Amino acid sequence: MTRPVLIRMHAADNVAVVGNDGGLPEGTVVPDGPTLREKLPQAHKVALADIAQGAEVRRYGVVIGRALKPISAGSWVHERLLEMPTARTLSGLPMATVRPPALPPLDGHSFQGYRNADGSVGTRNLLAITTTVQCVAGVLDHALERIRRELLPQYRYVDGVVGLEHSYGCGVAIDAPDAVIPIRTLRHISQNPNFGGEVMVLSLGCEKLQPERLLPPGSMAIGAGLPSQVRLQDERHVGFASMIDSIMSTAEHHLQRLDLRRRETVPASELVVGLQCGGSDAFSGITANPAVGFCSDLLVRAGATVMFSEVTEVRDAVEQLTSRAATPELAQRIIDEMAWYDAYLARGRVDRSANTTPGNKAGGLSNIVEKAMGSIIKSGTAPISGVVSAGERVCTRGLNYAATPASDFICGTLQLAAGMNLHVFTTGRGTPYGLAECPVIKIATRSELARRWHDLMDLDAGPIAEGRASIEDLGWALFRLMLDVASGKRTWAETHGLANSLVLFNPAPVT
Ligand code: CA
Repeated sequence: MTRPVLIRMHAADNVAVVGNDGGLPEGTVVPDGPTLREKLPQAHKVALADIAQGAEVRRYGVVIGRALKPISAGSWVHERLLEMPTARTLSGLPMATVRPPALPPLDGHSFQGYRNADGSVGTRNLLAITTTVQCVAGVLDHALERIRRELLPQYRYVDGVVGLEHSYGCGVAIDAPDAVIPIRTLRHISQNPNFGGEVMVLSLGCEKLQPERLLPPGSMAIGAGLPSQVRLQDERHVGFASMIDSIMSTAEHHLQRLDLRRRETVPASELVVGLQCGGSDAFSGITANPAVGFCSDLLVRAGATVMFSEVTEVRDAVEQLTSRAATPELAQRIIDEMAWYDAYLARGRVDRSANTTPGNKAGGLSNIVEKAMGSIIKSGTAPISGVVSAGERVCTRGLNYAATPASDFICGTLQLAAGMNLHVFTTGRGTPYGLAECPVIKIATRSELARRWHDLMDLDAGPIAEGRASIEDLGWALFRLMLDVASGKRTWAETHGLANSLVLFNPAPVT
């Protein structure tokens, strides 16, 4: 029989997680540990000692719940045995109290990127066609197919063409205060570094989100050309073919300019990395996320920009965030973002516990507190030097907290708006997630998933659980992979052409 592996995250923990592929059978004798009273699936928790009714259950050194009934040593500790702690209030939090020792600079690492006129750097050379309203999506899809077939083969230095389609633009309360979020999200995505400063807008004509409202004068990045526009309701368009011709000739103008761009050697400090997890399990916080956290510190040391996000997945660790903020002002901005989100959830009569999925629970995560502790490890140990509101652009190097929902597509969309040029995504349950706008490196938390999805997962963090690799080894492997992907190496999602839709965060009413 294989050696039983129980993973305990902190000396104060009274539960540990089963590390073995396939779980462990009833009666397993764990050296220096309990004898299992029942069969335990991989990634699920076992009680290391007897836990009395009402007593604290600790993982990561943090209370993840109280026992609803007595739990004997060696028993399975699952969500039906735990009462979830209430959320910490947002008053009296430690403000910028932790001064982590300064990390030594990390020099000498570079990648091959596309330098833009505004100083930003792209990792891909894409033509993006911005849209003002969903009404144009069908026409755009038709044009995109012809651009790919008829135009792209002539422009070998252009990596692809992307339609920035979305459900916003009309039928919405566009003057509601919260409408600023979807509008600035679209504005900033159209200026993502991977699009080379070439902005082409496709509009209908009668929609609420007029092109001038989407991209008002002065909103364009320095050095970018003026946005070009095609408007389907223009009287010069007689019939469908005229619209398609107009889109294609405008696209060709931008393709000619993009085709002149070449990759050049740029320092690793030009990376703008968005970190995210999705389809999490109890291994996320043991293997993949700690490796990402180590890599996040490497990126910060190299002078790069790193974002971690997902409000509901860090809400239960808010004091870790406010204490790690570089200044009391940044700590207050974190609190303001959390308070806004608490109120947003309360309007819908839910709270942060609405986050967890059936898959999370089947993967051993009992509740949002346990999920949050495993999620926040992605952020490493650096001070938080910036806070980015939903749809805003990141403007500070180092570690940033970008406040976004945890929904994979909405988080990815908002990180694109923030200026992300490389995305890192960890998953335990498995998701084929990808974006057309930016490469996504996917990391499996378990080797079983990495083997089964061998042509979907870009990195396997499972060896950490089995003691075959260290967190540092995997963190460095990810760092090197990031430089390769930023230089043009294709991810599995790119190889297969897998891309999810942009999904806007619109907290304002629709009409
Ligand atoms: Ca997510």
